[in-house]
Amino acid sequence: MKMSQMAFKPLKNPPANADTINHKLLVQAGYVRQLMAGVYTYTPLGLKVLNKIRNIIRKEMNAIGGQEILMPSLHPKQNWVTTGAWDNVDVLFHLKSRTDKEYALGQSHEEIVTPLAKDIIKSYKDLPLALYQIHWKFRDELRAKSGILRGREFEMKDMYSFHETQEDFDRFYQQVKDAYIRAYKAVDLVAKVTEASGGSFTQKISYEFMVLTDAGEDDIFYCPKCEFCVNSEIAKQKVGDDCPKCGHGQLAAAKASEVGNVFDLGQKYVKDFDLTYTNAQSEQKYPIMGCYGWGTTRTMGVIVEKTSDEKGIVWPYAIAPYHAVMVSLKGTEEQAEKLYTDLKKHNVEVIWDDRNESPGSKFAAADLLGIPVRLVLSERNGGKIEWKNRKETNPELLEHDQVLMRLSQL
Ligand code: ATP
Ligand code: MG
Repeated sequence: MKMSQMAFKPLKNPPANADTINHKLLVQAGYVRQLMAGVYTYTPLGLKVLNKIRNIIRKEMNAIGGQEILMPSLHPKQNWVTTGAWDNVDVLFHLKSRTDKEYALGQSHEEIVTPLAKDIIKSYKDLPLALYQIHWKFRDELRAKSGILRGREFEMKDMYSFHETQEDFDRFYQQVKDAYIRAYKAVDLVAKVTEASGGSFTQKISYEFMVLTDAGEDDIFYCPKCEFCVNSEIAKQKVGDDCPKCGHGQLAAAKASEVGNVFDLGQKYVKDFDLTYTNAQSEQKYPIMGCYGWGTTRTMGVIVEKTSDEKGIVWPYAIAPYHAVMVSLKGTEEQAEKLYTDLKKHNVEVIWDDRNESPGSKFAAADLLGIPVRLVLSERNGGKIEWKNRKETNPELLEHDQVLMRLSQL
């Protein structure tokens, strides 16, 4: 992509209303545009990042047997009345048609997936079943703030599973937890697995995946010596207590952002919708249900919060919109054209700042964008190319072919 042709270019200044790093940098660099509090447009650059996050999660969900579907956002009121959520879930948007019929906007999809699964689960042979989607949610959040960390419209990967026995549920629950840990690692995040109480309808224990960041809204206690981590809301412990798990560390408090969670829903929803199956003894039984959420847009924001520096975003390689940014200075047009063409031939995702701007502002834009590798072409370098990693300060001079080779091997 040539930057001169990009519809959304990096801005000179950050937005005035930004209260968090992710809001400031994502808007200034041109990844998102705010429509109103908690609602954002993703530009081609932002969409590239989001697509990479989606695909990392998608791969892990497919690998454990999840089947991807796409459910509607516009729901009939009755489904939400059936579970009691029409009156009890404060973030649910209610809509009234000109015909006086009422609808809800999907804030989660238990109310839709359960009757859907009821259609296809008839016998124990149809279990286990895991359906998931990557889709937008609508929530009437009181305070939509912190950029894309808390939206009124945001994207989630939500998976729902149905099992014959508690043992089979536990097996799958563990598989999802492991898949989550792998996917967080793939996007360079360390997520602490935190025990929390269940949601409003279940008293069972759930797990939240927490990333330590001051922009987060959750307060957690964690052990600096081991993996122990607990949400402070329900904790039996307090700061300074010996870690109940390893006994070596003293618990510390931190702010964190919840990037995902897994819930044992028990039989709440299957009973509400009367979803039963016939077991091997020809008896009618309710399956056990679980749900597994992952905030894809929030993940993008948390990564910006965690990795950025004073110059801008620093994308992990796996989700960077482009792997390399070319900065061509005056007099190198021909050399740049050749490098650009060759990089594309080698399937390197490259963005070329071919704009008629000062070197200083091109360097600032490259840093702000957070592209992992910066390639500078300058008449001073006698035909060689300056390679610099976003995180490092010192560049190296490489030959054209070396640049091609390194980037196509990354
Ligand atoms: P929170 O406590 O942050 O409100 P939640 O418990 O309401 O989260 P779920 O309804 O289980 O979360 O949603 C699953 C995931 O979706 C969360 O772990 C989080 O990553 C993401 N998420 C939830 N609400 C929002 C929001 N308003 N904006 C962006 N992402 C969100
Ligand atoms: Mg919430």
